[in-house]
Amino acid sequence: MATMRLDIITAEKIVYSDEVSSVVAPGSAGQLGILPNHAPLLTSLKPGELKVLKEGEEYIIAVSGGFLEVLRNVVTILADTAERAEDIDFERAEAAMKRAQDKVNSSDSDMDLEKAIQALKRSQARVYVSKRKRASKSKAK
Ligand code: ATP
Repeated sequence: MATMRLDIITAEKIVYSDEVSSVVAPGSAGQLGILPNHAPLLTSLKPGELKVLKEGEEYIIAVSGGFLEVLRNVVTILADTAERAEDIDFERAEAAMKRAQDKVNSSDSDMDLEKAIQALKRSQARVYVSKRKRASKSKAK
């Protein structure tokens, strides 16, 4: 079966690096599906869920934004932050979401609304991905 290389990198670490059969990414302009031998592409990402299929197994990763490049059968994702579903601290993400939501709802004029919205989107993506992982775990039981 055809595969392509996928590298997911942040400023801190290599989050994922392997041969995979498909990638579905949260592109800024909408969901983006990539299969092996895809045409060259450079696009930005929004906060959301990244789905990776490898040997019939699905891996879910939360990303908070960044860039995705496809070149010569290599998909490179330079992410602002990225966490595999199993590495997400659900309680931390929920607490961050609540804090960000409170900020967005507040009438404090000193508050940086754009920053608060970004924090809200990041934490929502983590909560969503972590919940999906929990749901697929309980289905497997
Ligand atoms: P918090 O307020 O909880 O720190 P944040 O959105 O401000 O959340 P970031 O600045 O986006 O956090 O990320 C800082 C580092 O912490 C990154 O390495 C990121 O991958 C990691 N991180 C953030 N939230 C979580 C989480 N809920 N579980 C695991 N790692 C996380």
